[in-house]
This record gives sequence, structure tokens and C-alpha cells, in this order.
Amino acid sequence: MATLNSADLIGSAQKIVIKIGSALLVENGALRVEWLQGLAGDVSNLRAAGKDVVLVSSGSIALGRAVLGMGSGALTLDKSQAAAAVGQIHLARAYQDILQPLGIKAAQVLLTLEDSQNRRRYLNTRATLAALLTMGVVPIVNENDTVATDEIRYGDNDRLAAQVASLIGADVLVLLSDVDGLYTKNPRDDSSAQHLPLVNEITAKINAMAGGVGSFGASGGMKTKLMAAKIAMNAGCAMAIVKGVENPVQALIDGAKCTWFRSDANPSQARKRWILAMKPAGALIIDAGAAAALGRGKSLLSAGVVRVEGKFERGDPVDIRAENHDVIAKGMVGYSHVEAKKLIGCHSNEIEQRLGYPGRSALVHRDDMAI
Ligand code: GLU
Repeated sequence: MATLNSADLIGSAQKIVIKIGSALLVENGALRVEWLQGLAGDVSNLRAAGKDVVLVSSGSIALGRAVLGMGSGALTLDKSQAAAAVGQIHLARAYQDILQPLGIKAAQVLLTLEDSQNRRRYLNTRATLAALLTMGVVPIVNENDTVATDEIRYGDNDRLAAQVASLIGADVLVLLSDVDGLYTKNPRDDSSAQHLPLVNEITAKINAMAGGVGSFGASGGMKTKLMAAKIAMNAGCAMAIVKGVENPVQALIDGAKCTWFRSDANPSQARKRWILAMKPAGALIIDAGAAAALGRGKSLLSAGVVRVEGKFERGDPVDIRAENHDVIAKGMVGYSHVEAKKLIGCHSNEIEQRLGYPGRSALVHRDDMAI
């Protein structure tokens, strides 16, 4: 394991997700504009260094309840969903107003749990986020609180941020919080609590340090942060919990106290492991030319497919086999078996004609494949 240095970890990262909690962004129902401007400056610096940045921002409910004069008491689910609907446009506008003068284009992306659980939607969400990043846009993500009911909610943006980090293959996730990391005990009630600068595995012992939900930390508390860390580490993404001070990312780079959660894998290794562990729903049999192209790191195009076996939907795992039955790779397929059969031997420029609608050129994209 390399030495632990926030400047190196962030400096070597290509994709960075930053999670901003409501408590940092909204104070007494009003947006903390200066703080947000500082954060936007940090984002601008990261962009200037060539990095892709995604922000996962809470605050819709906090802003909405102020606009609607709902006070600070507990809200029923429908009321908080209504508050989110009102607050989200204020939130999006705030980001737009603050990022635009810095020459940064922002996009609003509202996700539900299903977008990461259903493979078809997972692939679609990933493709859209990738397209936004390729165009240099900074996506501002929040949960789609207005449609997500209790049983299908992330409920907290810590886990949402980790899912987003996993979805885009981020190298680093920064959770901006009101605490500077994980302690052996709750530092608010026990002065013997010790700060942990690095965690390599979420063990039962580590979980026990977090206490109950909301015991300390922001809305989700330390428990949801550890759940987020587990998701991030499984995806090969390093995660930091750090205080959301002025210019928080710069402060982190400059050595602010924090806890890093790191596993040994990088995002691409972790993704390949994940794909390899899936049970295939079918197979694509390919010719020697396509097999050679996969060996050179290319995507699988329909022209190289000679046979389709099994029943699968877009996003399902499939084996990619040679005509002699050797399994060459495994991947998440971009088309259903019905579509894939229509595309056997098809050149990319004929896809629309065969399907009757425009499709993607790759049957299995190289990022969705493990050789
Ligand atoms: N999605 C919620 C909001 O925008 C916040 C969830 C959280 O605090 O983690 O208000």
C-alpha cells in the first residue's frame, strides 16, 4: 500500500465524486452562498487539472421546507417529498448560478435506488453520466426524493454518493461532513476517542465504532458513512470523510485531518471482479477476428458475432465464447437476446436498418467486459 497522502490520492485521481450534506449547504433555511462559492472554486481547480467531477448534493428538503414555511419539526414522507420537489429547483439554480461564472456547465441528475439495482437502468445511467463527463459537464446528483418512497429509497446521500462513485468508476469519493473522520468512540462524549487516519476494511470492530444512526455526524450519521465506505471500497474507490470547512477540497489536499477508506483494488480491477462473479444469462459466440480485437482491448461489435445463445436483457451478464467453446470474456450485454440475434454479423452502420431504431455500436462495451 502506497503512503497515505490526500494530495497524492486526489492528484492521481481522474474521476472525483464530492458529497455535500444539507447541514453544510443550508443554515436556517438559507443557502450558505459563500461556502458554496468556495467549493465551486475547488471544483474549478479540479476541472482545470483535467479531472472529472461529480457533485452529490443534499439540501432539497431543507430548502423546500423553508420556502414552504414548514418549520423544523419532523415531516411525514409525503410532506418531505413535497418539500424536496420545491427545494430541488432552488438547489439546482444555486449550483447553476455559482458554477456558470466559472465557465462550468452543470447538469441536474436525479436518481433512485432502482437506477443502480436494475441493470438496464444502471447501464443507461452510467452511459449518460459518462457522456456528461466527456463533454466536460459537472453533474449535480441528488436522490429523486419526490418519487422515491420509503422502501425504494437510498434515504441518505452518503450511500447515494458511493453508488454514483461505483457507477462511474470514480477513483476518489470525498464526503464533506461536520466531522473530521472516524474515531474509535464518539469523540463528543468520550475524550479518550482516537482518530483513525486510515481504514482498509470495514470489520465488525470498525462498525461498532460508528454507534447508532445519527449518533454523530450529519443526517446519515457515521453508520451510513461506513456503509458508503463499503460500497466505495468494493468498487475500488478511495473514500475520505473530512470536515466541510471553507474551500474543503483544497483543505483536504493541504492535509486537513480526515479518515481515508481504501481497498487494494483500483476501480477497473474491482469492476472486472464484479463482472466475473456474475452468473451468465447467455452467450455470444464470436469469430477469430473479434476475439483478436477483444485481446487488444476493443469493445465487442456485432459484426464479429456468429451465434447468440440463451435469453437475456440489456445489462445482463453473458459469456463471450470462441467457436471452439473457449470462454474469452464475460460482460454486461448492451442488447437483449432478441436484438442481439437480429444483429448477428451486422456492421455498425447497418444497426438502425436491422433494428428499426438507432442503437449503440458495441454489443458489449469494453468497460463492461472482463477478459
Ligand atoms: N436527498 C435529501 C435532500 O436533498 C438528503 C438526503 C441526506 O441528507 O442524506 O434533502
